[in-house]
Amino acid sequence: MEKKQFQAESKRLLEMMINSIYTQREIFLRELISNSSDAIDKIYYKALTDDSLVFDKDSYFIKVIADKANRTLTIRDTGIGMTKEDLENNLGIIAKSGSLAFKKENEAKDGHNIIGQFGVGFYSAFMVADVVTVTSKALGSDTAYKWESTGADGYTIEPTAKDSVGTEIVLQIKANTEDDNYDEYLDEYRLKAIIKKYSDFIRYPIKMDIAGKRLKEGSENEFEDYQEEQQLNSMVPIWRKNKSELTPEDYEKFYHEKHYGFDKPLKHIHVSADGAVVYQAILFIPENMPFDYYSKEYEKGLELYANGVLIMNKCADLLPDYFSFVKGMVDSESLSLNISREMLQHDRQLKLIAKNIQSKIKSQLQAMLKDEREKYELFYKSFGRQLKFGVYSDYGTHKEVLQDLLMFHSSKEKKLVTLDEYIARMPEDQKYIYYASGESMERIDKLPQTELVTDKGYEILYFTDDIDEFAIKMIMTYKEKEFKSVSSGDLGIEADDKSESEADKNDNKELFDYMTSLLSGKVTNVKASKRLKKHPVCLSTDGEVTIEMEKILNAMPNNPNVKAEKVLEINLNHEVFGSLKDAFVKDKEKLNLYTALLYNQALLIEGLPLQDPVEFTNDICKIMV
Ligand code: ADP
Repeated sequence: MEKKQFQAESKRLLEMMINSIYTQREIFLRELISNSSDAIDKIYYKALTDDSLVFDKDSYFIKVIADKANRTLTIRDTGIGMTKEDLENNLGIIAKSGSLAFKKENEAKDGHNIIGQFGVGFYSAFMVADVVTVTSKALGSDTAYKWESTGADGYTIEPTAKDSVGTEIVLQIKANTEDDNYDEYLDEYRLKAIIKKYSDFIRYPIKMDIAGKRLKEGSENEFEDYQEEQQLNSMVPIWRKNKSELTPEDYEKFYHEKHYGFDKPLKHIHVSADGAVVYQAILFIPENMPFDYYSKEYEKGLELYANGVLIMNKCADLLPDYFSFVKGMVDSESLSLNISREMLQHDRQLKLIAKNIQSKIKSQLQAMLKDEREKYELFYKSFGRQLKFGVYSDYGTHKEVLQDLLMFHSSKEKKLVTLDEYIARMPEDQKYIYYASGESMERIDKLPQTELVTDKGYEILYFTDDIDEFAIKMIMTYKEKEFKSVSSGDLGIEADDKSESEADKNDNKELFDYMTSLLSGKVTNVKASKRLKKHPVCLSTDGEVTIEMEKILNAMPNNPNVKAEKVLEINLNHEVFGSLKDAFVKDKEKLNLYTALLYNQALLIEGLPLQDPVEFTNDICKIMV
């Protein structure tokens, strides 16, 4: 028979599985049982929604059989089964592309076992087995197929005989080695414990024949061996359990068993609502960002159950985009089983649930911010950007929900502050919430524009994310305080010293008009600065668009060519200003040179590109000779 090869990525993963030593090998059973449970979900769902199929409830179960003599462990289910194509497509390749790269990277980083938590489904069987044989008959198919593999060298598929629909997986358990004991996966008590630990809530019975000894009938001292089929799981789904019965570990186990993430979730939210709409939900706020989070591949959504039956894997309508990082599930009695995707979108019950869930997430985040600051900052590191996108998107419609969850670094302590905290410590005479944009905190600290604001003792929020300024433009005012960029033309700071009153005088109008005409098309105005203390020159802006926004917009693929209205500000107290005045009277040629130099310096400070760097260096040489 021809041996088929696994896809390259699958092959590598298999090799990792086979050759690595994992402390959590036992999770293979969880993976196989949950695949079986999913398969039963599918057939159960079909039976409920298709009148031509009749199934009785007792025919749904998973059976685990340990055979010590032959060293095999069998997992048999009455699920939907797999066709030949399914076997090829599902077991020959890894569906989640990219997961391997991700795993490798993380394993290298902290060395601990990701696979145990992350789960790689079917492939984990190779952690304990030399040979894996899958026999399956799909619903509606006449032929059954046998898929077999000894690991990385490929697999075979051939027709076989099987009476009933469903799947049977036989694992040829590895022989013990000096370091590793595989016998335990053939031991009834051990298997029982593993199933109880990971699969207790599976909603179909997991059965196993348990051996026992009993008194022989009619005898008082003679014992006999007997086998009895037992159900090993309690079948109550975790979301139907009472919160008081559950420990944080239970939730964590559920999170991993469901493959919501490989990390330890920061928070879980268990909802049991029986008001206007009846539903249960378990939601998680992860700590780490999924590797594809900010990419197009990432799909938001919660698992949706209708009265205990899974009807959708990722119901996107349950989560707003700005909370797309939330993982979890919702089960509701109020939903109809055979509801289609299109109908679901308009379902009133679902809308109510979504609204309800949204406010639960919001209040959980708020509580975390208030009571568990460190945790919140971890969360914010991963998903703060998403909240800011949320503020900005849909023309600011969601700002009310999100604005008090925002944080920015600030000049005071270089730590994250909320807008509330910022306002609470504003000096009385401060009218605005000041912010400065730039690529890093260090860069912003050096911006001449911050001088006056810092001198006044006012705190500055650092906007280092490209979304920051755009989000703030949507908020406009927070608690009646307006946001103001330190580079904006009017800082709203009262004149209180000589430089300002001098700047207000009209003495230098001719000089500045002349310089403005030299820089026409580049700046809209040249004027005396009210903000500069030590630096000779800087750029500020008039109007809505700031220089940072111009940079970001112009870096976009469909460059809208937006320009900020730039103003060149000159510090009248700087010695350079004396030279300008002098040149204006005595040597226009020199003034032209100085103006070009100062303008280019201001561009450099802002991190803007020079139009002609060669000319700039030539200009510098001119003043050196
Ligand atoms: P995942 O479960 O994360 O999709 P797996 O590697 O565990 O990844 O399984 C791949 C696919 O194989 C499943 O999505 C399912 O379609 C199919 N499959 C696995 N086990 C069974 C089973 N017992 N019955 C029917 N289909 C199965």
